[in-house]
Amino acid sequence: MDESKINDIINSQKDFLDSNSNSINSRILLLKKLLINIKLFEEEIYEALSKDLNKAKFESFLTEILLVEKEIKLFIKKINKWSKDKKVKASILNFPSRNYLKPEPYGRVLIITPWNYPFQLSLTPLIGAFSSGNTVVIKPSELAPNTSSVLSKLIKETFPENIVSVIEGDAEVSKNLLSKKWNYIFFTGSTRVGKIVASEAAKNLTPITLELGGKSPCIIDKDVNIEKAAKRIVSGKFINCGQTCIAPDYILVNDKIKSKLIKHLKIEILKTYGNKPNQSNNYGRIISRNHLDRLTNIIAGQNIVFGGHSNKEDKYIEPTLIMDPDINSAIMSEEIFGPILPVISYNDLSEVEKIILKNPNPLAFYIFSNNKKFINHLINNFSFGGCVINDTLIHYINSNLPFGGIGNSGMGAYRGKHSFDTFSHYKPVLKKQSFFLDNLRFGPHPESFNTLKKLLRKF
Ligand code: NAD
Repeated sequence: MDESKINDIINSQKDFLDSNSNSINSRILLLKKLLINIKLFEEEIYEALSKDLNKAKFESFLTEILLVEKEIKLFIKKINKWSKDKKVKASILNFPSRNYLKPEPYGRVLIITPWNYPFQLSLTPLIGAFSSGNTVVIKPSELAPNTSSVLSKLIKETFPENIVSVIEGDAEVSKNLLSKKWNYIFFTGSTRVGKIVASEAAKNLTPITLELGGKSPCIIDKDVNIEKAAKRIVSGKFINCGQTCIAPDYILVNDKIKSKLIKHLKIEILKTYGNKPNQSNNYGRIISRNHLDRLTNIIAGQNIVFGGHSNKEDKYIEPTLIMDPDINSAIMSEEIFGPILPVISYNDLSEVEKIILKNPNPLAFYIFSNNKKFINHLINNFSFGGCVINDTLIHYINSNLPFGGIGNSGMGAYRGKHSFDTFSHYKPVLKKQSFFLDNLRFGPHPESFNTLKKLLRKF
Protein backbone atom coordinates (compact mmCIF):
# COMPACT_ATOMS: atom_id res chain seq x y z
CA MET A 1 0.00 0.00 0.00
CA ASP A 2 1.46 3.38 -0.94
CA GLU A 3 2.18 6.13 1.55
CA SER A 4 -0.68 8.40 0.48
CA LYS A 5 -3.21 5.57 0.90
CA ILE A 6 -1.84 4.83 4.39
CA ASN A 7 -2.13 8.52 5.31
CA ASP A 8 -5.68 8.63 3.90
CA ILE A 9 -6.69 5.73 6.15
CA ILE A 10 -5.11 7.33 9.21
CA ASN A 11 -6.73 10.71 8.49
CA SER A 12 -10.13 9.14 7.83
CA GLN A 13 -9.93 7.35 11.19
CA LYS A 14 -9.09 10.66 12.89
CA ASP A 15 -12.11 12.30 11.23
CA PHE A 16 -14.35 9.43 12.25
CA LEU A 17 -13.32 9.75 15.90
CA ASP A 18 -13.81 13.54 15.76
CA SER A 19 -17.33 13.04 14.40
CA ASN A 20 -18.40 11.36 17.65
CA SER A 21 -20.61 8.92 15.77
CA ASN A 22 -19.17 5.74 17.25
CA SER A 23 -22.20 4.61 19.28
CA ILE A 24 -22.25 1.35 21.22
CA ASN A 25 -25.23 0.15 19.18
CA SER A 26 -23.39 0.67 15.92
CA ARG A 27 -20.41 -1.24 17.34
CA ILE A 28 -22.66 -4.16 18.31
CA LEU A 29 -24.09 -4.25 14.79
CA LEU A 30 -20.59 -4.43 13.31
CA LEU A 31 -19.58 -7.18 15.76
CA LYS A 32 -22.63 -9.19 14.63
CA LYS A 33 -21.64 -8.60 11.01
CA LEU A 34 -18.12 -9.81 11.81
CA LEU A 35 -19.53 -13.00 13.31
CA ILE A 36 -21.60 -13.66 10.18
CA ASN A 37 -18.70 -12.87 7.85
CA ILE A 38 -16.31 -15.20 9.68
CA LYS A 39 -18.76 -18.02 8.92
CA LEU A 40 -18.95 -16.91 5.28
CA PHE A 41 -15.14 -16.86 5.03
CA GLU A 42 -14.64 -20.01 7.12
CA GLU A 43 -13.48 -22.29 4.29
CA GLU A 44 -11.12 -19.63 2.94
CA ILE A 45 -9.64 -19.20 6.41
CA TYR A 46 -9.00 -22.95 6.74
CA GLU A 47 -7.41 -23.04 3.32
CA ALA A 48 -5.15 -20.07 4.07
CA LEU A 49 -4.00 -21.52 7.40
CA SER A 50 -3.31 -24.82 5.70
CA LYS A 51 -1.20 -23.08 3.02
CA ASP A 52 0.73 -20.97 5.54
CA LEU A 53 1.28 -23.51 8.33
CA ASN A 54 -0.25 -26.80 7.17
CA LYS A 55 -2.75 -26.40 10.00
CA ALA A 56 -5.38 -29.13 10.15
CA LYS A 57 -8.99 -27.96 9.83
CA PHE A 58 -10.00 -29.03 13.31
CA GLU A 59 -6.95 -27.38 14.89
CA SER A 60 -7.70 -24.16 12.95
CA PHE A 61 -11.30 -24.27 14.10
CA LEU A 62 -10.35 -24.75 17.77
CA THR A 63 -7.39 -22.42 18.06
CA GLU A 64 -8.14 -19.71 15.52
CA ILE A 65 -11.88 -19.46 14.78
CA LEU A 66 -13.74 -20.68 17.87
CA LEU A 67 -11.81 -18.46 20.30
CA VAL A 68 -12.48 -15.41 18.14
CA GLU A 69 -16.20 -16.20 17.86
CA LYS A 70 -16.45 -16.60 21.63
CA GLU A 71 -14.69 -13.28 22.19
CA ILE A 72 -17.10 -11.50 19.80
CA LYS A 73 -20.14 -13.01 21.51
CA LEU A 74 -18.82 -11.99 24.92
CA PHE A 75 -18.35 -8.38 23.80
CA ILE A 76 -21.81 -8.26 22.18
CA LYS A 77 -23.28 -9.38 25.51
CA LYS A 78 -21.22 -7.23 27.84
CA ILE A 79 -20.19 -4.10 26.02
CA ASN A 80 -23.11 -2.00 27.29
CA LYS A 81 -22.37 -2.95 30.89
CA TRP A 82 -18.62 -2.49 30.60
CA SER A 83 -19.02 0.94 28.97
CA LYS A 84 -20.99 2.36 31.89
CA ASP A 85 -19.43 4.68 34.46
CA LYS A 86 -18.05 2.73 37.44
CA LYS A 87 -18.99 4.19 40.79
CA VAL A 88 -16.19 4.14 43.37
CA LYS A 89 -16.27 4.85 47.11
CA ALA A 90 -15.82 8.47 48.13
CA SER A 91 -13.22 9.63 50.64
CA ILE A 92 -14.56 10.92 53.94
CA LEU A 93 -12.28 13.91 53.43
CA ASN A 94 -14.31 14.88 50.38
CA PHE A 95 -17.70 14.31 51.96
CA PRO A 96 -20.20 14.75 50.40
CA SER A 97 -19.24 13.81 46.83
CA ARG A 98 -19.96 11.36 44.01
CA ASN A 99 -16.94 9.58 42.56
CA TYR A 100 -16.78 7.49 39.44
CA LEU A 101 -14.61 6.22 36.60
CA LYS A 102 -15.62 7.02 33.05
CA PRO A 103 -14.13 4.70 30.43
CA GLU A 104 -13.10 6.45 27.22
CA PRO A 105 -11.45 4.92 24.15
CA TYR A 106 -7.83 5.90 23.59
CA GLY A 107 -8.53 6.77 19.96
CA ARG A 108 -6.50 5.34 17.10
CA VAL A 109 -5.00 1.92 17.81
CA LEU A 110 -2.27 0.16 15.86
CA ILE A 111 -2.19 -3.65 16.20
CA ILE A 112 0.91 -5.48 14.91
CA THR A 113 0.68 -9.27 14.82
CA PRO A 114 2.84 -12.39 14.31
CA TRP A 115 2.41 -15.36 11.96
CA ASN A 116 1.89 -18.33 14.30
CA TYR A 117 -1.85 -17.88 15.01
CA PRO A 118 -2.25 -15.23 12.33
CA PHE A 119 -6.05 -15.10 12.34
CA GLN A 120 -6.78 -15.33 16.05
CA LEU A 121 -3.95 -13.07 17.21
CA SER A 122 -5.11 -10.33 14.84
CA LEU A 123 -8.82 -10.55 15.60
CA THR A 124 -8.80 -11.06 19.38
CA PRO A 125 -7.09 -7.74 20.14
CA LEU A 126 -9.13 -6.08 17.37
CA ILE A 127 -12.40 -7.11 19.04
CA GLY A 128 -11.30 -5.51 22.33
CA ALA A 129 -9.92 -2.36 20.72
CA PHE A 130 -12.85 -1.76 18.38
CA SER A 131 -15.58 -2.64 20.88
CA SER A 132 -14.14 -0.19 23.39
CA GLY A 133 -14.70 2.59 20.84
CA ASN A 134 -11.30 2.89 19.16
CA THR A 135 -10.50 2.85 15.47
CA VAL A 136 -7.97 0.21 14.45
CA VAL A 137 -5.24 -0.46 11.90
CA ILE A 138 -4.00 -4.06 11.86
CA LYS A 139 -0.56 -4.90 10.42
CA PRO A 140 -0.50 -8.71 10.11
CA SER A 141 2.67 -10.73 9.58
CA GLU A 142 4.12 -10.97 6.10
CA LEU A 143 5.17 -14.57 6.86
CA ALA A 144 1.58 -15.87 6.75
CA PRO A 145 0.57 -14.12 3.49
CA ASN A 146 -2.43 -16.32 2.68
CA THR A 147 -4.07 -15.70 6.05
CA SER A 148 -3.17 -12.05 5.98
CA SER A 149 -4.87 -11.69 2.60
CA VAL A 150 -8.11 -13.42 3.78
CA LEU A 151 -8.02 -11.31 6.94
CA SER A 152 -7.76 -8.18 4.84
CA LYS A 153 -10.77 -9.25 2.71
CA LEU A 154 -12.82 -10.16 5.79
CA ILE A 155 -12.15 -6.79 7.42
CA LYS A 156 -12.94 -4.90 4.21
CA GLU A 157 -16.25 -6.75 3.88
CA THR A 158 -17.14 -6.03 7.51
CA PHE A 159 -15.91 -2.59 8.56
CA PRO A 160 -15.78 0.80 6.92
CA GLU A 161 -12.12 1.67 6.32
CA ASN A 162 -12.35 4.70 8.60
CA ILE A 163 -13.12 2.38 11.54
CA VAL A 164 -10.98 -0.74 10.96
CA SER A 165 -8.37 -1.35 8.25
CA VAL A 166 -5.73 -3.94 7.47
CA ILE A 167 -2.40 -2.72 6.11
CA GLU A 168 -0.40 -5.69 4.85
CA GLY A 169 3.37 -5.68 4.56
CA ASP A 170 6.74 -6.55 6.04
CA ALA A 171 8.96 -5.08 8.76
CA GLU A 172 9.50 -1.91 6.68
CA VAL A 173 5.75 -1.27 6.55
CA SER A 174 5.62 -1.93 10.27
CA LYS A 175 8.44 0.54 10.93
CA ASN A 176 6.70 3.15 8.79
CA LEU A 177 3.46 2.70 10.73
CA LEU A 178 5.35 2.92 14.03
CA SER A 179 6.85 6.23 12.96
CA LYS A 180 3.35 7.75 12.93
CA LYS A 181 1.41 9.01 15.91
CA TRP A 182 -1.03 6.54 17.48
CA ASN A 183 -3.04 6.69 20.68
CA TYR A 184 -2.31 3.06 21.58
CA ILE A 185 -0.05 0.34 20.16
CA PHE A 186 -0.74 -3.33 20.75
CA PHE A 187 2.12 -5.56 19.63
CA THR A 188 2.36 -9.36 19.58
CA GLY A 189 5.67 -10.86 18.53
CA SER A 190 9.26 -11.40 19.56
CA THR A 191 11.01 -9.74 22.50
CA ARG A 192 13.57 -8.30 20.07
CA VAL A 193 10.97 -6.44 17.99
CA GLY A 194 8.99 -5.63 21.15
CA LYS A 195 11.91 -3.47 22.27
CA ILE A 196 11.87 -1.61 18.94
CA VAL A 197 8.12 -1.03 19.28
CA ALA A 198 8.57 0.26 22.84
CA SER A 199 11.27 2.72 21.82
CA GLU A 200 9.21 4.02 18.85
CA ALA A 201 6.15 4.40 21.08
CA ALA A 202 8.20 6.26 23.68
CA LYS A 203 8.90 9.05 21.15
CA ASN A 204 5.22 10.05 21.34
CA LEU A 205 4.58 8.72 24.86
CA THR A 206 2.10 6.29 23.30
CA PRO A 207 0.83 3.65 25.71
CA ILE A 208 1.55 0.07 24.66
CA THR A 209 0.81 -3.56 25.32
CA LEU A 210 3.59 -5.97 24.43
CA GLU A 211 2.66 -9.64 24.06
CA LEU A 212 6.06 -11.31 23.70
CA GLY A 213 7.64 -14.75 23.95
CA GLY A 214 10.24 -16.47 26.08
CA LYS A 215 11.20 -19.84 27.49
CA SER A 216 8.26 -21.37 29.36
CA PRO A 217 9.32 -24.17 31.70
CA CYS A 218 7.32 -27.27 32.54
CA ILE A 219 8.30 -28.70 35.92
CA ILE A 220 7.35 -32.27 36.77
CA ASP A 221 7.31 -33.57 40.31
CA LYS A 222 7.92 -37.25 41.14
CA ASP A 223 4.38 -38.15 42.27
CA VAL A 224 2.38 -37.41 39.11
CA ASN A 225 0.37 -39.61 36.78
CA ILE A 226 3.00 -39.79 34.05
CA GLU A 227 0.71 -41.08 31.28
CA LYS A 228 -1.68 -38.15 31.72
CA ALA A 229 1.14 -35.63 32.07
CA ALA A 230 2.79 -36.92 28.87
CA LYS A 231 -0.51 -36.64 26.96
CA ARG A 232 -1.04 -33.05 28.04
CA ILE A 233 2.55 -32.03 27.39
CA VAL A 234 2.66 -33.59 23.91
CA SER A 235 -0.58 -31.87 22.97
CA GLY A 236 0.62 -28.45 24.25
CA LYS A 237 4.10 -28.73 22.78
CA PHE A 238 3.50 -30.12 19.29
CA ILE A 239 0.27 -28.36 18.33
CA ASN A 240 1.03 -25.93 15.46
CA CYS A 241 4.38 -27.71 15.15
CA GLY A 242 5.59 -26.21 18.42
CA GLN A 243 5.08 -22.64 17.17
CA THR A 244 2.97 -21.49 20.10
CA CYS A 245 4.13 -18.66 22.35
CA ILE A 246 2.91 -20.53 25.46
CA ALA A 247 4.10 -24.00 24.42
CA PRO A 248 6.15 -25.70 27.13
CA ASP A 249 9.65 -24.77 25.95
CA TYR A 250 11.52 -27.36 28.03
CA ILE A 251 10.86 -29.93 30.74
CA LEU A 252 12.45 -30.15 34.16
CA VAL A 253 11.66 -33.60 35.52
CA ASN A 254 12.47 -35.28 38.79
CA ASP A 255 15.31 -37.71 38.07
CA LYS A 256 13.37 -40.62 39.63
CA ILE A 257 10.75 -40.58 36.85
CA LYS A 258 12.84 -39.33 33.94
CA SER A 259 12.99 -42.62 31.98
CA LYS A 260 9.31 -43.33 32.47
CA LEU A 261 8.42 -39.82 31.27
CA ILE A 262 10.55 -40.15 28.14
CA LYS A 263 8.92 -43.52 27.40
CA HIS A 264 5.43 -42.01 27.67
CA LEU A 265 6.28 -38.88 25.70
CA LYS A 266 7.38 -41.18 22.86
CA ILE A 267 4.19 -43.26 23.13
CA GLU A 268 2.04 -40.12 23.02
CA ILE A 269 3.88 -38.64 20.04
CA LEU A 270 3.43 -41.90 18.13
CA LYS A 271 -0.23 -42.11 19.11
CA THR A 272 -0.89 -38.54 17.99
CA TYR A 273 1.17 -38.29 14.81
CA GLY A 274 2.04 -41.91 13.89
CA ASN A 275 5.53 -43.07 13.05
CA LYS A 276 5.59 -40.92 9.91
CA PRO A 277 4.49 -37.47 11.15
CA ASN A 278 5.21 -36.02 7.69
CA GLN A 279 2.25 -38.10 6.46
CA SER A 280 -0.03 -37.15 9.34
CA ASN A 281 -2.95 -34.82 8.59
CA ASN A 282 -2.56 -33.32 12.04
CA TYR A 283 1.07 -32.29 11.95
CA GLY A 284 1.99 -28.74 10.94
CA ARG A 285 4.98 -27.26 9.15
CA ILE A 286 7.56 -24.65 10.08
CA ILE A 287 6.66 -21.20 8.76
CA SER A 288 9.76 -20.72 6.58
CA ARG A 289 13.00 -22.42 5.52
CA ASN A 290 14.99 -19.85 7.52
CA HIS A 291 13.07 -20.77 10.65
CA LEU A 292 13.68 -24.45 9.89
CA ASP A 293 17.44 -23.80 9.54
CA ARG A 294 17.47 -22.16 12.97
CA LEU A 295 15.83 -25.26 14.47
CA THR A 296 18.12 -27.77 12.76
CA ASN A 297 21.11 -25.72 13.93
CA ILE A 298 20.08 -25.73 17.59
CA ILE A 299 19.63 -29.51 17.70
CA ALA A 300 22.96 -30.27 16.00
CA GLY A 301 25.29 -32.04 18.43
CA GLN A 302 22.54 -32.53 21.04
CA ASN A 303 21.57 -35.87 22.59
CA ILE A 304 18.50 -36.63 20.44
CA VAL A 305 16.49 -39.47 21.98
CA PHE A 306 13.54 -39.26 19.58
CA GLY A 307 12.96 -37.70 16.14
CA GLY A 308 15.40 -35.14 14.82
CA HIS A 309 14.88 -35.70 11.07
CA SER A 310 13.94 -32.80 8.86
CA ASN A 311 13.24 -31.91 5.23
CA LYS A 312 14.01 -28.38 4.18
CA GLU A 313 11.93 -28.44 0.99
CA ASP A 314 8.87 -29.45 2.97
CA LYS A 315 9.67 -27.11 5.94
CA TYR A 316 9.29 -30.24 8.04
CA ILE A 317 10.94 -31.31 11.25
CA GLU A 318 9.92 -34.31 13.32
CA PRO A 319 8.68 -34.02 16.89
CA THR A 320 12.03 -34.22 18.66
CA LEU A 321 13.09 -35.03 22.22
CA ILE A 322 16.50 -33.92 23.48
CA MET A 323 17.94 -35.35 26.69
CA ASP A 324 19.87 -33.23 29.20
CA PRO A 325 21.27 -30.47 26.94
CA ASP A 326 24.00 -28.21 28.27
CA ILE A 327 22.12 -25.37 29.91
CA ASN A 328 24.44 -22.87 28.26
CA SER A 329 23.80 -24.20 24.74
CA ALA A 330 21.63 -22.26 22.26
CA ILE A 331 18.69 -24.62 22.78
CA MET A 332 18.51 -23.55 26.44
CA SER A 333 19.31 -19.89 25.84
CA GLU A 334 16.73 -18.88 23.22
CA GLU A 335 13.01 -19.49 22.78
CA ILE A 336 12.73 -22.75 20.77
CA PHE A 337 9.42 -22.03 18.97
CA GLY A 338 9.42 -25.37 17.16
CA PRO A 339 8.66 -29.07 17.82
CA ILE A 340 11.78 -29.71 19.89
CA LEU A 341 11.45 -30.57 23.55
CA PRO A 342 14.51 -30.67 25.80
CA VAL A 343 14.09 -32.81 28.92
CA ILE A 344 16.38 -32.01 31.84
CA SER A 345 16.39 -34.02 35.04
CA TYR A 346 16.79 -32.55 38.52
CA ASN A 347 17.33 -33.93 41.99
CA ASP A 348 16.35 -30.93 44.06
CA LEU A 349 14.61 -27.62 43.59
CA SER A 350 17.78 -25.53 43.69
CA GLU A 351 18.71 -26.99 40.26
CA VAL A 352 15.26 -26.11 38.94
CA GLU A 353 15.62 -22.54 40.18
CA LYS A 354 19.02 -22.08 38.63
CA ILE A 355 17.77 -23.13 35.18
CA ILE A 356 14.55 -21.11 35.24
CA LEU A 357 16.33 -17.98 36.45
CA LYS A 358 18.65 -18.10 33.43
CA ASN A 359 15.60 -16.99 31.38
CA PRO A 360 13.44 -15.18 33.94
CA ASN A 361 9.79 -14.03 33.63
CA PRO A 362 8.54 -16.74 31.25
CA LEU A 363 5.23 -16.16 29.49
CA ALA A 364 3.81 -19.47 30.76
CA PHE A 365 4.73 -21.66 33.70
CA TYR A 366 3.62 -25.28 33.92
CA ILE A 367 3.75 -27.46 37.02
CA PHE A 368 2.78 -31.13 37.15
CA SER A 369 2.44 -32.15 40.79
CA ASN A 370 -0.02 -33.27 43.43
CA ASN A 371 2.03 -31.79 46.25
CA LYS A 372 0.57 -28.50 47.51
CA LYS A 373 3.82 -27.43 49.16
CA PHE A 374 5.82 -28.04 45.97
CA ILE A 375 3.26 -26.17 43.84
CA ASN A 376 3.01 -23.21 46.23
CA HIS A 377 6.76 -22.95 46.53
CA LEU A 378 7.11 -22.60 42.75
CA ILE A 379 4.17 -20.22 42.33
CA ASN A 380 5.41 -18.00 45.15
CA ASN A 381 9.04 -17.93 44.07
CA PHE A 382 8.82 -17.28 40.35
CA SER A 383 7.39 -14.48 38.28
CA PHE A 384 5.58 -15.48 35.06
CA GLY A 385 2.82 -14.39 32.67
CA GLY A 386 0.41 -17.20 33.55
CA CYS A 387 0.50 -20.60 35.22
CA VAL A 388 -1.29 -23.90 34.68
CA ILE A 389 -1.07 -26.76 37.15
CA ASN A 390 -1.33 -30.28 35.71
CA ASP A 391 -1.99 -29.23 32.11
CA THR A 392 -0.65 -26.97 29.37
CA LEU A 393 -1.98 -24.02 27.30
CA ILE A 394 -5.53 -24.09 28.64
CA HIS A 395 -5.38 -20.84 30.62
CA TYR A 396 -5.61 -19.03 27.27
CA ILE A 397 -9.13 -20.41 26.77
CA ASN A 398 -10.54 -18.67 29.84
CA SER A 399 -11.11 -15.01 29.01
CA ASN A 400 -11.69 -14.25 32.70
CA LEU A 401 -7.94 -14.75 33.15
CA PRO A 402 -5.91 -11.83 31.79
CA PHE A 403 -3.41 -13.03 29.20
CA GLY A 404 -0.04 -11.32 29.07
CA GLY A 405 3.59 -11.46 30.10
CA ILE A 406 5.92 -9.74 32.49
CA GLY A 407 9.44 -8.42 31.97
CA ASN A 408 10.96 -10.11 28.92
CA SER A 409 7.66 -11.83 28.09
CA GLY A 410 5.77 -8.55 27.81
CA MET A 411 3.71 -5.94 29.54
CA GLY A 412 -0.04 -5.48 29.84
CA ALA A 413 -2.72 -8.11 29.28
CA TYR A 414 -5.96 -8.68 27.39
CA ARG A 415 -8.94 -11.01 26.70
CA GLY A 416 -12.59 -10.30 27.53
CA LYS A 417 -13.07 -7.59 30.16
CA HIS A 418 -9.29 -7.28 30.46
CA SER A 419 -9.23 -6.23 26.78
CA PHE A 420 -11.89 -3.61 27.42
CA ASP A 421 -9.77 -2.26 30.29
CA THR A 422 -6.60 -2.37 28.20
CA PHE A 423 -8.11 -0.34 25.37
CA SER A 424 -9.93 2.17 27.60
CA HIS A 425 -8.65 5.04 29.65
CA TYR A 426 -10.63 5.26 32.87
CA LYS A 427 -11.15 8.94 33.61
CA PRO A 428 -11.60 9.54 37.33
CA VAL A 429 -14.38 12.07 38.01
CA LEU A 430 -15.36 13.58 41.37
CA LYS A 431 -18.55 15.61 41.67
CA LYS A 432 -18.68 17.66 44.82
CA GLN A 433 -22.15 18.28 46.27
CA SER A 434 -22.78 21.94 46.74
CA PHE A 435 -25.37 21.91 49.53
CA PHE A 436 -22.81 21.38 52.24
CA LEU A 437 -19.69 23.48 52.75
CA ASP A 438 -16.87 21.63 54.47
CA ASN A 439 -15.12 24.50 56.17
CA LEU A 440 -12.11 22.50 57.26
CA ARG A 441 -9.71 23.19 54.43
CA PHE A 442 -10.60 26.85 54.07
CA GLY A 443 -8.71 29.42 56.09
CA PRO A 444 -8.33 30.68 58.66
CA HIS A 445 -7.12 27.34 60.07
CA PRO A 446 -7.89 26.54 63.71
CA GLU A 447 -5.17 27.28 66.28
CA SER A 448 -5.92 24.16 68.26
CA PHE A 449 -6.90 20.98 66.40
CA ASN A 450 -5.90 17.96 68.48
CA THR A 451 -9.41 16.52 68.69
CA LEU A 452 -10.03 17.17 65.02
CA LYS A 453 -6.69 15.55 64.13
CA LYS A 454 -7.63 12.36 66.01
CA LEU A 455 -11.01 12.26 64.32
CA LEU A 456 -9.65 12.77 60.82
CA ARG A 457 -6.95 10.15 61.33
CA LYS A 458 -9.54 7.64 62.47
CA PHE A 459 -11.63 7.75 59.29
P1 NAD B 1 8.35 -10.81 15.07
O1 NAD B 1 8.62 -9.97 16.27
O2 NAD B 1 9.47 -11.15 14.17
O3 NAD B 1 7.23 -10.11 14.15
C1 NAD B 1 6.01 -9.65 14.65
C2 NAD B 1 5.50 -8.50 13.81
O4 NAD B 1 6.45 -7.44 13.86
C3 NAD B 1 5.32 -8.84 12.34
O5 NAD B 1 4.10 -8.26 11.89
C4 NAD B 1 6.52 -8.19 11.64
O6 NAD B 1 6.25 -7.73 10.34
C5 NAD B 1 6.81 -7.01 12.56
N1 NAD B 1 8.24 -6.65 12.58
C6 NAD B 1 9.31 -7.47 12.36
N2 NAD B 1 10.47 -6.78 12.48
C7 NAD B 1 10.13 -5.51 12.78
C8 NAD B 1 10.87 -4.32 13.02
N3 NAD B 1 12.20 -4.32 12.97
N4 NAD B 1 10.21 -3.19 13.33
C9 NAD B 1 8.86 -3.18 13.39
N5 NAD B 1 8.10 -4.26 13.15
C10 NAD B 1 8.71 -5.41 12.85
O7 NAD B 1 7.62 -12.11 15.62
P2 NAD B 1 7.15 -13.39 14.83
O8 NAD B 1 8.33 -14.13 14.32
O9 NAD B 1 6.09 -13.01 13.85
O10 NAD B 1 6.42 -14.23 15.98
C11 NAD B 1 7.12 -15.07 16.85
C12 NAD B 1 7.31 -14.45 18.20
O11 NAD B 1 6.09 -13.93 18.69
C13 NAD B 1 7.76 -15.45 19.24
O12 NAD B 1 8.75 -14.87 20.05
C14 NAD B 1 6.51 -15.74 20.05
O13 NAD B 1 6.73 -16.18 21.35
C15 NAD B 1 5.85 -14.40 20.02
N6 NAD B 1 4.42 -14.53 20.24
C16 NAD B 1 3.90 -14.05 21.39
C17 NAD B 1 2.54 -14.21 21.62
C18 NAD B 1 1.90 -13.70 22.88
O14 NAD B 1 0.67 -13.68 22.91
N7 NAD B 1 2.64 -13.33 23.90
C19 NAD B 1 1.73 -14.84 20.67
C20 NAD B 1 2.33 -15.31 19.51
C21 NAD B 1 3.67 -15.14 19.29
